[in-house]
Amino acid sequence: MTSMLTDDVVLDPPVANDGQVVWSLVKDDLRREFGEDTYKSWISKLECKDCSNATVNFTVPTRFIRDWVITHFEKKIVKAWQKHNNCIKKINIIISKSKSTLNVVESSVQNKLKLIQQDDDQSEFLQLSLDRRFVFDNFVAGPSNEFAYAAARAVSESKKVQPGSNPLFLYGGVGLGKTHLMHAVAWHIQETNPSRKVVYISAEKFMYQFIKALRTNEIMQFKEKYRSADVLMVDDIQFICGKDSTQEEFFHTLNTLIDNNRQVVISGDRSPSDLQNMEERIKSRLGWGLVADIHNTTYELRLGILQSKVEKIQVSVPNQVLEFLAAKITSNVRELEGALNKVIAHTNLTKQEVTLANTQDILRDLLRSNEKNITIEEVQKKVAERHNLKVSDMYSSKRSRNIARPRQIAMYLSKTLTVHSLAEIGKKFGGKDHTTVMHAIKKVELLLQSDKEFSEDVRLLTKVLEC
Ligand code: ADP
Ligand code: MG
Repeated sequence: MTSMLTDDVVLDPPVANDGQVVWSLVKDDLRREFGEDTYKSWISKLECKDCSNATVNFTVPTRFIRDWVITHFEKKIVKAWQKHNNCIKKINIIISKSKSTLNVVESSVQNKLKLIQQDDDQSEFLQLSLDRRFVFDNFVAGPSNEFAYAAARAVSESKKVQPGSNPLFLYGGVGLGKTHLMHAVAWHIQETNPSRKVVYISAEKFMYQFIKALRTNEIMQFKEKYRSADVLMVDDIQFICGKDSTQEEFFHTLNTLIDNNRQVVISGDRSPSDLQNMEERIKSRLGWGLVADIHNTTYELRLGILQSKVEKIQVSVPNQVLEFLAAKITSNVRELEGALNKVIAHTNLTKQEVTLANTQDILRDLLRSNEKNITIEEVQKKVAERHNLKVSDMYSSKRSRNIARPRQIAMYLSKTLTVHSLAEIGKKFGGKDHTTVMHAIKKVELLLQSDKEFSEDVRLLTKVLEC
């Protein structure tokens, strides 16, 4: 008896008891701060083990919950704790399956636990395939992606499937944020509605798993897995092509889910109707819902993305460098981020400050490959094509407005997109004087500010030439 008492004292030092008491107070504060839903989904899953030194130790049942709590609530928990005991500086969370799970004997309870366990595995599996940085908070919206962004947000926030947005089809070129938005939708649903079963998969994996299931006679399990999803997300749909049986299976999965009012989100590198080697009926079904495209980034968006990144990682990079990168790395956001990371890593390693000079130096090769050597001839050709003129009109002296205006645009674009001087440009436009070119540029700049249609025309031409 005495020894048991002694054991008790050893196992439960007073500080741990204090921890439990404080934790129940902190939990009340957090429940008030976050509201019942968030509290139940996340905070209530934390079991306080003890406090040692300046750390509170918790356990949670799954890695998914741990990661989510750390990302979203760590600082707030510490802050709430400090109100009661300001010696606490951090929290530590480890994963531990609750003991009671192991001791339960009653079979119905055990089955239920198994199901819970499966759900946990499901969410752990999901979170393993999701990039933790790809959340809405880290996504910068701008004119080129704001429709896709708004559509993704709406789908992730809506409790019910909106018939007009099922499936949601996001498309755009490589590195422009499709996967980021897909993951953000999945994270958001997991956070706000953890009981919804989200399945995220790349189309390539879908194909691979389907073929594997056929081989191993597990096709029923395969069907069940995808058709039981509340939200099915398939990334890079362009890779489901050719293979007829996979397309067939995909089509039926798509139909079953949509007919049962489950949300489907698909991404692709082109619009549904442009998908090659894809059955017509699938293309048509994919185009039924909401189709949102992501265009190439603008300079402002690139700058905004860079500014948001350096702010998040708290590195000081002069604005001049960010402006330089935003102007020079125009291909896509992945390359833009890569360039920034490279500069930061390099200067870190060599203990230098980030400056424009060392940025140019570090990125020399990358910058060269990003520089698409646009020629004056190319500019003339594209401008003439767009305005239904002959290329020779570009170097003629005809003064009618329908020819003179496009010619001025071509001169302007030659100045902004190529490295040639005013004199060189004049020469290529039928031996005109450099002051004529200068006048053209000024005129275009004025019109860009006052005439929306005109500026859209110039923007599109620039895009065509840069691609
Ligand atoms: P995609 O799937 O379209 O090829 P990703 O979603 O993988 O492109 O994006 C490439 C990289 O660029 C990712 O690191 C992503 O976080 C980043 N990115 C793309 N668009 C944005 C944006 N608007 N704001 C912040 N980061 C972005
Ligand atoms: Mg992608």
